[in-house]
Amino acid sequence: MLPKVDEVLKDREIEEMMEDIPREKITEAVRRVIDRRREAILTSPDEDPRSHLLGIREEILAEIRQASCPSLRPVINATGVVLHTNLGRASLSEKAAAHVMRVAEGYSTLEYDPEAGARGSRHVHLEETLRKLTGAEAAMIVNNNAAATMLVLSAIGYGREIIVSRGEMVEIGGSFRIPDIMEQSGAHLVEVGTTNKTRLSDYEKHVNENTAALLKVHTSNYRIIGFTEDVSLKELRELGDRCDLPVIYDMGSGLMVDLSAYGIDEPVAARGLADGADVILFSGDKLLGGPQAGIICGKKKYIDMMKSHPLARVLRVDKMTIAAMESTLNAYLDPDNALREIPVLRMITRPQEELRAQCLILKDMIDEIRDPATGESAYSAWIEEDSGVVGGGSAPGSLLKNVVVKVSHRTMSPDEMCDRLHRGEVPVVARIHRDKMVLDVRTLETKDFEVIADKLRAMIQAGGKA
Ligand SMILES: *Cc1c(COP(=O)(O)O)cnc(C)c1O
Repeated sequence: MLPKVDEVLKDREIEEMMEDIPREKITEAVRRVIDRRREAILTSPDEDPRSHLLGIREEILAEIRQASCPSLRPVINATGVVLHTNLGRASLSEKAAAHVMRVAEGYSTLEYDPEAGARGSRHVHLEETLRKLTGAEAAMIVNNNAAATMLVLSAIGYGREIIVSRGEMVEIGGSFRIPDIMEQSGAHLVEVGTTNKTRLSDYEKHVNENTAALLKVHTSNYRIIGFTEDVSLKELRELGDRCDLPVIYDMGSGLMVDLSAYGIDEPVAARGLADGADVILFSGDKLLGGPQAGIICGKKKYIDMMKSHPLARVLRVDKMTIAAMESTLNAYLDPDNALREIPVLRMITRPQEELRAQCLILKDMIDEIRDPATGESAYSAWIEEDSGVVGGGSAPGSLLKNVVVKVSHRTMSPDEMCDRLHRGEVPVVARIHRDKMVLDVRTLETKDFEVIADKLRAMIQAGGKA
């Protein structure tokens, strides 16, 4: 009684799906469902086999849809963590995304100067804007800030010594550790001071004829508090001048506009150069709000060394990254505009009243989901204040004031609800706090609410079945 694969493939709807989904994927999905049903029949010989044929067509369609989902696909971020590294860090602005599309679909001026009708450089597209925004003489872009660190250290310190404070031996996560990157770059790390206290004299004592640079690393994802002392960039500059050494500053997050009014305690990129660094470097997809990239700005003499370094080719970015970065940086030429246009900044600066109003809409939508047995609201949903983080290893001491919708259900546990929200074409990622599911609207748009409500409704209709 089980259908044959060939017969199923003649189904009108499935035939139409073949226009978008490879036949191979469809055939495999059909076979999987039929095999599952056969297994079910064989393992329950007492039941009427026909009962195992019910809903088979719907299951096949669902299986095909699931199999055709790309592995890399959008998710809805209900965690409230603005820079969620696992969820792709910064969302691009509409303009940046459109620019990527235009450039990706065809040929471009990537390394072509149309005015001269000759070969150009991929660095020109961003350099002018970066110079305006940071006050640098020159600038370049590489694959990420880890790559930028590698390139800067190698170009300036290969085979020589670079001095850094013990309080700034940062691990960013995964396998990015400042000491390891230094070793790979061929520069010798000279650690000075202690974890909690480093003085200018500690750097000074270690300067010798083999010293190539002084390095400062922003402690992006931790703060040392209590009995502490560190050396400011200005003081390092002064030592650099005395000993004729360049000062390098790894700034981490690449903040371009002051967000201290919003409780974000991170250094602004332009400040790094104004306070005396010769070279600054930072990420493109943290607080800058652009694509994954590392940006290096500073004295032309050093940037030129890096542009012509063999690693520059190894670490270079492609046209899509440059397109996204060009549009993102352009938004900063008018800072008010940047706060509106760049999703990361818009999310961080969303007013409380707006978050609260969004919570009300979402809560109402959840309240409207009825339990078919009782006609009552299927879930309990209520609004609470909560604290949130920026994420992505930025601003660890800054807590954002968030407003969230908490959801519970009579029989489904928060774990079970979260688990089911992950399924399907567009996974929804939520948080659990004190045994309740938390939907944080800071990182949600109104159009996401519909998807969340649909998924919650489907869970009720599935009647608690997986
Ligand atoms: C995040 C960070 C890095 C690594 O940047 P990626 O762009 O993630 O490679 C390096 N240094 C500091 C100080 C950072 O905060």
